[in-house]
Amino acid sequence: MTQRTALIVGAGVAGLAAAWWLKKVGWSAVVIERAPDLRTAGHMLGLSGPGLEVAKRMGIEPQLQAKACVINENIYRDRKGRELLRMKYREFLKELPYIALRRTDLVQALHDALPPDVDIRFGATAEKIVDHGDRVSVQLADGTELTGDLLIGADGLRSWVRREVFGSDERFFKELGYRFATYDLEDTLNLGIDFLSYTEPGHIVEYYTLRDGRIAALHAWVTSETGIVPDEARWAAIRRAARTAHPQVHEIVDAAQRGPLPLIDNLTLVDMPSWSEGRVVLLGDAAHCLTLISGQGAGMSIASAAMLAEELGSKPIDEALRRHDERLRPAIVKLQERSRKMGALFVPASSLSFHLRNFALRHMPRAWLGQYFINAIRSEILATADAS
Ligand SMILES: Cc1cc2nc3c(=O)[nH]c(=O)nc-3n(C[C@H](O)[C@H](O)[C@H](O)COP(=O)(O)OP(=O)(O)OC[C@H]3O[C@@H](n4cnc5c(N)ncnc54)[C@H](O)[C@@H]3O)c2cc1C
Repeated sequence: MTQRTALIVGAGVAGLAAAWWLKKVGWSAVVIERAPDLRTAGHMLGLSGPGLEVAKRMGIEPQLQAKACVINENIYRDRKGRELLRMKYREFLKELPYIALRRTDLVQALHDALPPDVDIRFGATAEKIVDHGDRVSVQLADGTELTGDLLIGADGLRSWVRREVFGSDERFFKELGYRFATYDLEDTLNLGIDFLSYTEPGHIVEYYTLRDGRIAALHAWVTSETGIVPDEARWAAIRRAARTAHPQVHEIVDAAQRGPLPLIDNLTLVDMPSWSEGRVVLLGDAAHCLTLISGQGAGMSIASAAMLAEELGSKPIDEALRRHDERLRPAIVKLQERSRKMGALFVPASSLSFHLRNFALRHMPRAWLGQYFINAIRSEILATADAS
């Protein structure tokens, strides 16, 4: 049989994992990435469940462990700086396979694991997709035309492939009612804490101390605003969200504003009745964004890529795409349901719900609280158990 070729749009978690797994089942892969190179900044994420299992099968766990961020203790404070909760994160996580690292480091490890003959076109913009029935081609902005057997849209939440082939974002976006922002900065404030969080009604900010003397920040806040935040409005949006936050939060935003622009987006689920159409299939956030609340978006991108390649390696394309959808969907439905429910616990919107949550956290015996957090992570893993 002649070697089959996948055209993959997006060199993120899903796209690079797909290239690796497809090569393993004998396909060739061309990856089209809009950015000039792999992004060097990136939010923190936790890899557990099927994603971590698949990463182990790829042999990249040692590289991920080498970049893992150590979180011994979590401290949650209110806007006045009063300690709401202090948890020995490390102690109760030790029984769970879990790696906390930056998206950047995960993407780099996936990239470095690729065989040298995977063709990655950085700085390439796809402009047109033509599905010929038995082949599919994509035209790049520089006039190049690439043809393959399957086109994989792994281009993230605001996927161009999805808009081109499946329809407008409005058809598939389910907004959860929150925005998030991430950025990192040099730790000149010497936080001296692995994980510090300031929480108040309608807004939370988390700071992770990284290995390289930097801090990664994540804000999440309640809002009905949607859509892309223009570059020049990003810091102002964060300042508005954090206007009543603890003074240290303002100090950190001031310092961060001297660095690169933050990433801002909505917590948006992507909910699609089918992830494929003819010779085009979506993977990762483009297909089924779970939001950061699920804690499984990257993991499921990797697991889904492995599953897709496994099916493509042994079946005709249309049957493989159908089977991939059938195997993956139950876990995605559960995880999206979880994201819908957990948002209110992560960022309580009203003062009443905020105080009720904190009361419960403060008065719950520590052993129960530890168990509650373990169970939350376990339920993420269980929700995805049928996907590995
Ligand atoms: C703050 C935050 C915390 C998170 N925490 C976790 C966690 O704890 N655990 C977890 O598993 N997941 C977590 N996630 C989710 C996880 O990061 C995503 O699910 C994962 O990155 C999705 O991978 P992807 O490859 O689908 O998309 P992305 O990682 O977004 O990659 C898409 C790629 O496509 C490229 N691209 C976009 N458009 C085009 C185009 N038109 N042409 C060519 N290339 C294009 C982009 O440049 C990018 O390289 C978190 C997400 C956020 C934002």
